[in-house]
Amino acid sequence: MIVGAGPTGLMLAIELQLQSLSCLVVDARHGPRLHSHGGGLTARTAELLDQRAVLALLGSRAFETRVYFAGLSTSTRGYAAAIYDVNQGQVEHALLRRLNQIGGRVAWGHRFVSSSRRRDGIHVDVETNEQLSTVLSRYLVGCDGAHSRVREDAGIKMHVTAPTLELLLADVTGSVRSRPVPTYLPGGVVMSGPNGIAQSRLVVREYGRPPARRKRSPSALEVAGTWLRVTGEDLSRRGFLWTSSARDGSSHAETYRSDGTIIAGDAAHTHPPAGGIGMNSGIQDAFNLGWKLAAAIRSDNEGYLASYEAERRPVVEQVIRDAATQSSLIYSAADGDSLRTALREMLGTPRIAEPVGRRMSGIDVTYGDDPEDPLVGARWATEPWRAHDDDSAIIVRQLRGGKGAFLTQDDRAGARHAAAFGVPGIAGSALRRVLRHTERQSILLRPDGHVAWTDHSPASLHDALIHTRGSVNLAHRWEAKK
Ligand SMILES: Cc1cc2nc3c(=O)[nH]c(=O)nc-3n(C[C@H](O)[C@H](O)[C@H](O)COP(=O)(O)OP(=O)(O)OC[C@H]3O[C@@H](n4cnc5c(N)ncnc54)[C@H](O)[C@@H]3O)c2cc1C
Repeated sequence: MIVGAGPTGLMLAIELQLQSLSCLVVDARHGPRLHSHGGGLTARTAELLDQRAVLALLGSRAFETRVYFAGLSTSTRGYAAAIYDVNQGQVEHALLRRLNQIGGRVAWGHRFVSSSRRRDGIHVDVETNEQLSTVLSRYLVGCDGAHSRVREDAGIKMHVTAPTLELLLADVTGSVRSRPVPTYLPGGVVMSGPNGIAQSRLVVREYGRPPARRKRSPSALEVAGTWLRVTGEDLSRRGFLWTSSARDGSSHAETYRSDGTIIAGDAAHTHPPAGGIGMNSGIQDAFNLGWKLAAAIRSDNEGYLASYEAERRPVVEQVIRDAATQSSLIYSAADGDSLRTALREMLGTPRIAEPVGRRMSGIDVTYGDDPEDPLVGARWATEPWRAHDDDSAIIVRQLRGGKGAFLTQDDRAGARHAAAFGVPGIAGSALRRVLRHTERQSILLRPDGHVAWTDHSPASLHDALIHTRGSVNLAHRWEAKK
């Protein structure tokens, strides 16, 4: 069972559905979100969504090739620091649509209450219309956000870095003077601009104001008062459609898994509000977890789950560090103009901007440390911001099935081997050009588009297939076929 149909839960549901595993997704809300937190897909998230046919559902949009760091931006050429400009609500709708297309559903209005682990599995208590029912599940995945009840129920603790500042956010009716982020005023930092039809988004950080301990969103009165003090602009007569707050602290779970309970997305980690990364990290967690969870279920072996935390934790740690650096550069430094000027000048240099862009866009993330084959663990670049040529279109098409792909110049026996494990093979001359630059004859891609094995790897293809698909039965089927 997956608890939570935010971006993380929806992505994970798609992954499991593609692996033909039955999975119940519950969410306490009564339908998809109407309000959008933030947005912007990083280059890596856009690649992943393309590999699941979700990107096309977002409509045709231009990729911006700009590097954003700490509120500074510089335009670039020739590499993928791309940001895909969509809001979170649109991403969630596209994920839900894709899930429905492949036969998955969300049980809205179902609240997770508690769970107990017994010999036959996890007994999960879910409340709907004030009625409690119990569902027996093999695994329970908490994608239920920062205040995760699933995490609390499993007794997983968070390592918390205390916040030092708070932003207030609101959507108001009508237009408001556009101010790019960050606009520095004597009393604080603000941002405002259009957000959808006939409404505007406001973000304000008032200097000297400590972060509040809140149980609910700030009132319209509080946001309007803060806005007035910082900008001198009176918005108290506007309609406040939505208000929220964000603090610069972070939290990271001490573990991502306890018995059969797993957590992902905001349930496992939260970041300071800079760099627009929370939704992107959650989607990438789900992408990393989905095929491993399927392998664990198929093989009845929890060992397949170990690499989920081993691979994602270091990535998330870096994301938290980078977000904290950006947050203090953007929001804390009232007198930080000289630092920002120096940084802006440095980002104007391609040699500096390029690695910063790659790091911010997530395309540098690699899941391997094999000294004999550095390609293992690297992402296979499918770059939707360039029109797919025929070869790369074939690879993306195969990856859309969610089972990985075996790319080979001429190893037909290897391709048959992969097919016995349900991994589609792409063989023949079409791939020669694609593989030539890797100096490899054959490459096995994991379902998440990272390289699992190449013909330079010390491991055998057979072991890599078992690792990727996790099925003892499939291995037997291959032995029997030989
Ligand atoms: C103001 C703001 C701006 C942001 N801007 C950006 C941005 O620009 N870019 C970016 O990448 N990220 C941004 N983020 C972060 C992003 O919104 C989150 O990181 C993202 O929503 C996390 O997704 P999730 O699916 O893990 O959790 P959530 O989106 O929080 O989803 C959790 C789901 O679980 C459900 N749920 C909770 N408890 C239960 C329960 N007991 N039973 C059943 N269901 C339950 C909830 O109803 C919800 O649907 C922003 C966040 C905020 C607040």
